[in-house]
Amino acid sequence: MGHAAMTYDVVVIGAGAAGLMCAAQAGYAGRRVALLDHANKAGKKILMSGGGRCNFTNLATTPQHFYSQNPYFSISALKRYRPEHFVELVERHGIDYVEKTPGQLFCASSAKDIVQLLLTEAQWAGVDIQLKTRIHRLERQGEGICLDTSLGRIEAGVVVVATGGLSIPTMGATGFGYDIARQFGLEVLPTRPALVPFTLGEPWKTRCAALSGVSLDVAVECGGGYFKEPMLFTHRGISGPAMLQISSLWLPGEALRINLLPDEDVATSLRSAREQTPKRKLQTWLGERFPKRLAQALTEWYGDAVDETPLAQYSNAQLDEWAQRLNDWQLKPTATEGWRTAEVTLGGVSTQHISSRDFSVKELPQLRFIGEVLDVTGELGGYNFQWAWASGVACGQAC
Ligand SMILES: Cc1cc2nc3c(=O)[nH]c(=O)nc-3n(C[C@H](O)[C@H](O)[C@H](O)COP(=O)(O)OP(=O)(O)OC[C@H]3O[C@@H](n4cnc5c(N)ncnc54)[C@H](O)[C@@H]3O)c2cc1C
Repeated sequence: MGHAAMTYDVVVIGAGAAGLMCAAQAGYAGRRVALLDHANKAGKKILMSGGGRCNFTNLATTPQHFYSQNPYFSISALKRYRPEHFVELVERHGIDYVEKTPGQLFCASSAKDIVQLLLTEAQWAGVDIQLKTRIHRLERQGEGICLDTSLGRIEAGVVVVATGGLSIPTMGATGFGYDIARQFGLEVLPTRPALVPFTLGEPWKTRCAALSGVSLDVAVECGGGYFKEPMLFTHRGISGPAMLQISSLWLPGEALRINLLPDEDVATSLRSAREQTPKRKLQTWLGERFPKRLAQALTEWYGDAVDETPLAQYSNAQLDEWAQRLNDWQLKPTATEGWRTAEVTLGGVSTQHISSRDFSVKELPQLRFIGEVLDVTGELGGYNFQWAWASGVACGQAC
């Protein structure tokens, strides 16, 4: 005789940011809830987020900070569960936080505090959390859905898929959520890694590697996007907030337009420097504006015998060439670092099948999708967690 199936009102697949939030809300709404994850720990990505401090929200969150084929989809949930709501929860749990960059809130101590908050809420709400659990198959059964798992058969009134995106497979990321979507006839839009550093071909790879660790404020443009934030040279190429942001808009083969001095019109500045201080060297002028290693590298890259040449000897054309290099450096990355280091996934389960109120599949309301598995991807700066919280709450309260 086989074992009797376990039954729950709601089974949430994925104990990440969205799944934990959703499960607690459904539990508080009086539902019997199970939260399943194949990983050995809940909230692994939360733990590694924000450099270990978790940038858990952004006070400036609006739907404009998200990429999606349907830019209207996120409006409803984001409006109902705002950054202030999560901040209130953080304060209720006595967690100290800091505003590092305007609007971006981080834990003062550790991202562990946010995972603990979510686990405490789930526990208070009576959620049954089952880690190291494999889900083999889902199938419709009467009004509900039956799951074939390593724990045995589980019958659920509602299944919420919160399996996240594809980035950092070593942290437990899988495409299982997309497989479930396809199984039930939903469209999955093409995925690609985003918020990810760029890699470069030669000679730029070697040049940038030599500057590894140097950071400066730049403006970068590509694919209709513009970000004014810091850039970082790395052993593999270029990174830092400006590059992570623009990676969400970059397509292979495209050049980035990087303004290394976004607050200065270099052509005008160099001309006036030549007039007022004709004996000065270009190296000195660069040294006043850039970290020393970069100032030196710039003159080496462009092969100018500038060390001894006074500005007076530069023609207008030469100064304009420098203005172009500094105000409009066009650099073609070879690729991105890919899923190994990407923070998020662009694309995913198309929102056209999903209700923006309760996140149920329109033709199959027993099945729901929340968080990053959906085709909703935030910019850098705490927006992705705000989406996880907002979609989790909207879905959980309606379960
Ligand atoms: C390095 C890094 C830093 C980041 N920093 C920030 C930040 O500071 N601020 C910010 O807003 N965003 C940040 N993000 C993005 C953020 O972590 C995600 O957008 C967010 O975690 C998505 O939440 P989610 O619940 O949808 O998915 P996840 O948090 O990824 O959770 C998905 C869960 O599903 C589980 N799962 C997957 N497949 C299966 C399966 N087959 N069976 C069972 N369980 C499964 C996983 O184990 C995981 O626990 C960062 C991401 C990374 C990688």
